[in-house]
Amino acid sequence: MIACHECDFLHRVQPVPSGGKALCVRCGAVLYQNIPNSVERALALNLAALMLFIMANAFPFLSLKLSGRIEENILLSGSLALYRMGMGELGLLVFLTSFLFPLLSIACMLYILFPLRLGRRPARMARVYRVAQAIAPWSLIGVFMLGVLISFVKLMDLAEIIPGVSLFSFAGLLAAFSAANANMDASAIWPRMGLASEDNVPGATAVERGLIGCHTCSMLVPKKQIDEPGHGRCPRCETPLHGRKANSLTRTWALIASAALLFVPANVYPVMTIIKFGRGDPNTILSGVVHLIEGGMWVLAMIIFFASIVVPVLKLIALSFLLVSIQKKSAWRARDRTLLYRVTEAVGAWSMVDIYVVAILAALVNLGSLSTIRPGIGATFFGAMVVITMFAARSFDPRLIWDNARRQK
Ligand SMILES: [Zn+2]
Ligand SMILES: [Zn+2]
Repeated sequence: MIACHECDFLHRVQPVPSGGKALCVRCGAVLYQNIPNSVERALALNLAALMLFIMANAFPFLSLKLSGRIEENILLSGSLALYRMGMGELGLLVFLTSFLFPLLSIACMLYILFPLRLGRRPARMARVYRVAQAIAPWSLIGVFMLGVLISFVKLMDLAEIIPGVSLFSFAGLLAAFSAANANMDASAIWPRMGLASEDNVPGATAVERGLIGCHTCSMLVPKKQIDEPGHGRCPRCETPLHGRKANSLTRTWALIASAALLFVPANVYPVMTIIKFGRGDPNTILSGVVHLIEGGMWVLAMIIFFASIVVPVLKLIALSFLLVSIQKKSAWRARDRTLLYRVTEAVGAWSMVDIYVVAILAALVNLGSLSTIRPGIGATFFGAMVVITMFAARSFDPRLIWDNARRQK
């Protein structure tokens, strides 16, 4: 048997056809998939991703040509530029999400998949797998790529931009990395083994049957076993187990409140200052959008406006709504509320795009008094806000939506 990780409903595991998916009957979440040769595919794609990652960092990324001067940049120039301009925190955020976490993710998967392909289980596999799972939502290669494209268009009328080998490698890395994750079938690593006892018939949640489903390896563990002192972990993969995420409501409310507070300075202070011929022109997020519209770049203005203002605001409203609905013990459209949560969690990371644009522009446009772009303190507040909203979405437990709905009926 398997418990749905989003609503805790129990299902009997049944074989699905090759390439098929099994969905939760109650909330529609993907329970498990059947990807043929998943280990071989994921191994090949992760190897390709590693090679492209090395290439993306070995060659120039973007170069800027202005009145005979060429400013050459590598992939890491953005984080370095932020660090040199006294914004180390923001530089670190860019470094982690666009460089270290993707690399670590690839390395972890190779560490697991190579021995599995040879028929052996690597040492400390569970721990490495948990690290890979924890950093997955923070590996933002796709968002960084969007940031590169936006910077590219923004700079087109300022100077000549020369894309380097690294840029194309990075685009390839994005494709290989996404495909590697899509072809990873967790059941190839964790063979299904559950409690097949006849008492545990489906039609209830795991918690109602006295079971806790492991988030990492899907094993169902009796709650009695977990409650014993010193046994709070999954016996197979050692993930700490809780029936529900600890203090989910309080924690999520606290994070939402912090993010809402940070939203104010993030929009009041400038995110970057464009210095042309010695004169500075500070831009907040909103005035940056207005400048883009004035310059006729409608599409760009819309992307920045949606990613930086609409998405964070809607995310905070959606999470607050979900929390209130749980506290009021509402049974209203639980399936749609779960879907709302799923979307909220998925789109949140795209707000980071403006941070990447600031980092890339700061690195690229550094031509002394002629033209320089400097990051502003607003960007740090904004980055902190995005990170905190991502934590808020992760501390929320969608199973609570269903617990209350069930109690009422
Ligand atoms: Zn479900
Ligand atoms: Zn486990």
